[in-house]
Amino acid sequence: MKIELPQKVNEIIETLMNQGYEAYAVGGCVRDTALGRRPKDWDITTSATPNQVKGLFRSTIDTGILHGTVTVMLGKEGFEVTTYRIDGEYTDARHPKEVTFTSNLLEDLKRRDFTINAMAYNHHEGLVDAFDGMGDLKRGRIRCVGCARERFSEDALRMLRAVRFAAQLGFEVDEETEEGIKALAESIGKVSAERIQAELVKLLVSPHPERIRTAFDTGLTRIVLPEFDNMMAATKENSHLGSSVGDQTIEALKQVREEKVPRLAVLCYHMTKSQGDPAQAHQMTKGILKRLKLDNDTIHRVSSLVYWHDEHPRLEDGEIRRTISKIGIECYPYLFEIQRADILGGDLWGQKERLEYLETYERKYQEIRTKGHCLFVKELAVTGRDLLEAGMKPGKELGNMLNKLLDVVLEEPEKNTKEELLVMVERMKP
Ligand code: ATP
Ligand code: MG
Repeated sequence: MKIELPQKVNEIIETLMNQGYEAYAVGGCVRDTALGRRPKDWDITTSATPNQVKGLFRSTIDTGILHGTVTVMLGKEGFEVTTYRIDGEYTDARHPKEVTFTSNLLEDLKRRDFTINAMAYNHHEGLVDAFDGMGDLKRGRIRCVGCARERFSEDALRMLRAVRFAAQLGFEVDEETEEGIKALAESIGKVSAERIQAELVKLLVSPHPERIRTAFDTGLTRIVLPEFDNMMAATKENSHLGSSVGDQTIEALKQVREEKVPRLAVLCYHMTKSQGDPAQAHQMTKGILKRLKLDNDTIHRVSSLVYWHDEHPRLEDGEIRRTISKIGIECYPYLFEIQRADILGGDLWGQKERLEYLETYERKYQEIRTKGHCLFVKELAVTGRDLLEAGMKPGKELGNMLNKLLDVVLEEPEKNTKEELLVMVERMKP
């Protein structure tokens, strides 16, 4: 098999090989190229030690020198070059106690998590595939290198990685590997929230978010996302489809674009629905996302979407402008997308009417935006300074006045001119 290597990757491999070292492209980039996908980055594995690597290239960065990784800079591009290594004994299902460098490629491939991630390639040796990674790529299988239980006891995060790769590639987790997860699922609790979050988000924003089911079936969500298990336990009454809340969530997840905010919003909306009121759902969502160590911006966006998910204004222009003004522009147009996903993923009852409502709502929203109607105080044709010049005093009254002007303008957008507003100020000022 021949793989196209980017010129710079080949240049690094050739430089190392010319000095008598071994060097290969390895891991995700080989897997992705074999699948006809574009790799995110190219990793190189070599028999040269980090210091030997540093000696051969003009510009390098000590990225993870203790673990054998040096970044080689060629122009503005960086490539991680890692020395063949054996991971030492794992003491806490998280970190190898030490790593040992080795001159044997096979040893390095053996420490890797899955067969599809344990292939190496260069133009001289061709594909090195000691664990039938190609076979698993063809069969669509995520399978551990070696004994699944052993590999998961070394590093518990690999269990979630298995499900994440299944979701990204549309693969199934191999039977023995899945058994291994079931046996050791609880130990995922020892892994840091940040590492769990990274895998969970990759799973959710993948083309197959429905694989979260595998995380549930194997007992992983029970530890990392117990709210998901609680939701799955609740069965939906009155459903013409006979589908569970869980099925509906999974269906709705697939309906929104592959991005963090809308996918998390759909998931959290369903997990917190049982709270009964939006304020509580909002609080619970914030709690979940904080525990998972998501960044504040994401927490804010997702919890706002959960809070406003069931807000359905009357389809009248003024009412819609007031609603956008209240909800805030940052929730749009995601809000339409997740509301639509919820309708499509849920009961058939009233589906057509609800979709029509949403279509009109969205069309009117677009019109309002296109016309550039004023929706917020900062978009008024007068500022606080104008009011001061009109003789008002600084302080609370000023803010109140601006809000009153906004109320008027939300109902009658054509009144948003400086002249009109100043006339109103004269009339209303204390
Ligand atoms: P992605 O496209 O998501 O980056 P990737 O395969 O490159 O996928 P990385 O997490 O970047 O995944 O890891 C690079 C390689 O390192 C993997 O392909 C795998 O060979 C190895 N690896 C990463 N994490 C582990 C782990 N926890 N246990 C064993 N091997 C691992
Ligand atoms: Mg990678």
